[in-house]
Amino acid sequence: MGLHNSGKGKVTIAGAGPGDPGLITVKAKTALESADVVLYDNLVNAEILDWAPVHAERIYVGKKPYQRSVGQETINQLLHFHALRGRHVVRLKGGDPFVFGRGAEEAQYLMKLGIEVDVAPGITSGIAAATYAGIPLTHRDHSQRVVFLTGHSKAGLELQEDFLRVFDGTIVVYMGLKNLGQIARQLIEWERAPDTPAAVIENGTMNNQRVITGKLEEIAGLAAEASLQSPALVVIGEVAALRDSLNWFEPARIIANQTQP
Ligand code: SAH
Repeated sequence: MGLHNSGKGKVTIAGAGPGDPGLITVKAKTALESADVVLYDNLVNAEILDWAPVHAERIYVGKKPYQRSVGQETINQLLHFHALRGRHVVRLKGGDPFVFGRGAEEAQYLMKLGIEVDVAPGITSGIAAATYAGIPLTHRDHSQRVVFLTGHSKAGLELQEDFLRVFDGTIVVYMGLKNLGQIARQLIEWERAPDTPAAVIENGTMNNQRVITGKLEEIAGLAAEASLQSPALVVIGEVAALRDSLNWFEPARIIANQTQP
């Protein structure tokens, strides 16, 4: 297992999904089952790692927000190093590896060096956390489009005024908790109604998921009051109000917990 006919290694860049272990693809799970080495991130559920063979080396390379951690160059070099030794390396990343995840940068680095790369997409938290909060990103009566933004990029917060002034659909913000006050103020300045429904989802899809909802103008204060922490996803738009009638996950979770011995 894990050794390739050519004797050459390969790297599978795989999405682990947003947290709930059921939300991984068959492709990613199959790759894990034949892994010799797994490099995994902070946001990867530990249960998923158990699918790798016992002999597989597990290397934690997580980046916690706003903390020093294993640098990207070191991660790239580790991937290269193990692939060169003929191993099947699985690079397991939270959600989807190509959505705000640097999976593309890692793939580019390896491909330039002639390493075989395979990619297993994942369910991104922007979709799954919203769904588990009872928020559909589009709905025929409320929103016909959706945009995924980051609240924290290389250059800090980079909101695009000309786009956001006219965009009337659902806004999903990754890494948006820290700058939420600024994001909300900016959108209101750019003529989003202050009473637009909004939600913040902490630990989406997991058993400790927490969600707060409120108006755009008050959402940052509410999130701070509830001391919501990373990972958290922000959803802004009419659809956030649908949680009131569509919160399927949390009641089911309570019943599941109650029936456990
Ligand atoms: N590639 C990942 C995103 C990585 S950026 C994906 O596709 O989901 C990290 C950000 O993703 C976090 O700051 C948070 O905004 C979001 N995130 C990841 N997992 C989450 C979860 N379980 N619940 C809520 N937000 C999550």
